[in-house]
This record gives sequence, C-alpha cells and structure tokens, in this order.
Amino acid sequence: TALLARIAALDPQLNSFITVTADQALAQAAAADARRAAGESGALLGAPIAHKDLFCTEGVLTTCASKILHNFKAPYDATVVAKLAAAGTVSLGKLNMDEFAMGSANESSHYGAVKNPWNLERVPGGSSGGSAAAVAARLIPAATGTDTGGSIRQPAALTNLTGLKPTYGRVSRWGMIAYASSLDQGGPIARSAEDCALLLAGMAGFDAKDSTCVDVPVDDYLAELNQPLAGLRIGLPREYFGAGLDSRIAAAVLAVVEELKKLGASVKEISLPNTQHAIPAYYVIAPAEASSNLSRFDGVRFGYRCENPVNLEDLYKRSRGEGFGAEVQRRIMVGTYALSAGYYDAYYLKAQKIRRLIKNDFVAAFDEVDLIVGPTTPNPAWKLGEKSSDPVSAYLEDIYTITANLAGVPGLSMPAGFVDGLPIGVQLLAPYFQEARLLNVAHQYQ
Ligand code: GLN
Repeated sequence: TALLARIAALDPQLNSFITVTADQALAQAAAADARRAAGESGALLGAPIAHKDLFCTEGVLTTCASKILHNFKAPYDATVVAKLAAAGTVSLGKLNMDEFAMGSANESSHYGAVKNPWNLERVPGGSSGGSAAAVAARLIPAATGTDTGGSIRQPAALTNLTGLKPTYGRVSRWGMIAYASSLDQGGPIARSAEDCALLLAGMAGFDAKDSTCVDVPVDDYLAELNQPLAGLRIGLPREYFGAGLDSRIAAAVLAVVEELKKLGASVKEISLPNTQHAIPAYYVIAPAEASSNLSRFDGVRFGYRCENPVNLEDLYKRSRGEGFGAEVQRRIMVGTYALSAGYYDAYYLKAQKIRRLIKNDFVAAFDEVDLIVGPTTPNPAWKLGEKSSDPVSAYLEDIYTITANLAGVPGLSMPAGFVDGLPIGVQLLAPYFQEARLLNVAHQYQ
C-alpha cells in the first residue's frame, strides 16, 4: 500500500507506469503473507516488482507502449512473469518503454516519454526506461526489463542502477513480445547486484516453450556473490576508450578498475577489433527481424483496427499506418528493404558475417581474460527531445552495448559515479553463462 501511494504521488511526473494493477498487487501480497505464515521463506516472497510492458500478463494490458496493442490483454503469462509470481513476487503493474523496445531514450512510447528521476529534463535511457525510472525513484525495488541492444544496461547506467542482460538463452523469451528474436533477452534492473542476483535466480532456467532457451544448470547466484576476486584477469578493450567517449566517463571506468585491482584483479589491454562494425550490423539485423516479427500486427487478429476499412488492403495499411509510431515504421521499412531480393546479400548476409566476426572477437578475448570492463554508454543522459529528430545520433549511443547481444554474451552495468550531476555506468562482460561472475564482481565492488 505504501508503494501504491508513492506511485500515485510521484509517477504523474515520471510516467514510468502504463498500467498499475493495485487490486492484483494487494491479492498477491495477501497470498505471499499467507505463504510466509505457513512457514515458507524465500527472498522473493512478497517482494514488490513490476514488469516491462512487453511481458504478457494474463488478463492485464500488455501494450508494448504501442497504439497497435492499446487494448491487448494476453490470455496467458510470459514464463518470466509466471516464474516470478510462483516465487511469490507482488507485481504492481506494467512499465513504460520505447514502442516495441525500439529506442534508447524512452521517447517513442505511445504513452509519452519517461523522465529521468535524477533530472526531469533528461531521458532515462531506453528501451526499458520505465523500469529504470520506477526503480531509481524508489517506486519499486526491482523490475524486469529486456535487452536487444542495451535496453537493460543503458537505462540502468543513466539512472544509477545495476542491470543485467543474461546470456542469450539463459532466460525464457516465451510470452515476451518479440522485437529481434535472435538478440532479445529478459533480465533484472535493481539497486544492487545482490537484488539482481535474487531476481535472476527467479527468472533463469530452461523452458521447453522457447526453442532457443538453453538447458544448462542455473548457478547459485547468491552464494557466488561473496567469492574473492583474487586472480581475476580483467581486459580493457582499446576500442572502447577511443574517440566519442566522454573523457570523464573513461576516468570513472578506470577508477572502478583501480578498485578491482585492490581486490586482487590483474588488468591488461585487449582488442575487440570488429567493434567499429557493430552499429551498422546491428541496425540491419535488428530491423530485419523486427520487420518479420511485427508482420503479425495486421489489424485482424488483435490490437488496433482502423475505422471503416473499405477492403482488406485498406484495413492492413491503415491499421498499421495508424497503429505503429514513426520509429517502428522506420525500422520496418529498413528491415524489409534489407531482406528484399537483390539487397539480401549486400546487407543482411553481410551483417550476419560481421556478427560472426564480433562473436569471434569475444571468444578470442575470453581466452586471455575472465572479464571485460568498459563504459556502458559514451555520454550521460541527454535532454528530452535532443536526439528525437536525429535517429542516427541516438543509434551511436549503443556502441558499447550492442556487441554483447550480437555475440550472445552476458553483460552487466553498475553505477560508476556522476558526470555533471548525472549518473553513468561501467559495463562488465563475461563468457557465456557466467552471470554469476558478473554479479560477483559487481557485488564485491559495491
Ligand atoms: N537502442 C537499441 C535499439 O533501439 C536497443 C534497444 C533494445 O535493447 N531493446 O534497437
């Protein structure tokens, strides 16, 4: 009840929630109390959270922050939602985001931009901007997010939080509305590595309903938090400290590295030579997959339908033209173009080859080091509206985060201080399925 009151009081300024599910939350809280009274324990039992509005929730609106799904109530829960509910979490509602998770500023939502609680004139990052703003403003202690090219790590960095993108296949994507299926991964945003560990433990694991979910055992994230860091080999990729990076962020990252050295880590420079090709490759692959995934929103089966269609083609065209926002339409056009006969080899196939080279860069680097450390973003949070007319300048902000999605490796962003009064983040990257190492290092530092 205290949090519901806090949401009612503060969220009108932040706009972090699309739907608040007060009744359901009170019922879930009562059920958690009853389980506790019956002798059950567990850190997530009764823990308040909220979900990014692309996780399907039975009987509750799931909009993807799009007009085209403004009235969509899923008939089932996403695996992540069901698992966290079974662990006893209390969901307070659904969080604002960039429309269909396309963006880095949370300005493309049909429900309006989200504000950064540290400075209401700045963006909170995206696409999980509602998740980050709600946690940073202490409306909820933790939230789910998704990360296709940085959408958990980047908003966490810009709001002074810890956010984890797991290895591709670690967390089930079933019931998570797809943006780019080969890159999308759900994960936690919270105030500390410890809270992320608790939430990830509740989310991770094999799910037969997602054919890309991998059947490897889930580590005991909580137990691993206290491992000493002695002997940890850290790599600093030279490509992550070049032109374009705010020198104050570079200094903050190096200060974190100094602390990790004091905890027993050794540091060396490494190279991820194909980093420069990541943005063009990502902005071909992600829109290509999006154009295919979003073809199901046709005005017939669910969601928005235009008024008085004169025939089927008119129905498709106007429902999609009126239902999707500008950024989503741009991506659909780019993706359809890249996949069309005659251009496929030049763009999509080429991007896939770059993707493989980026993956090989990481595999080679992790032969030499156990952990890669660098900045999460090149700059602190920008002003609302500053980049909305220049999508390419927003795309360039993704340079340090998208490589992890292209390669599938896990990544974590944790707070690294402030620049001009705005939070910034340091990013840790680890080999496949080594989420425990990321959480361990972040916890030791924090
Ligand atoms: N900013 C990137 C994009 O717009 C990443 C978004 C995400 O991770 N969902 O595609």
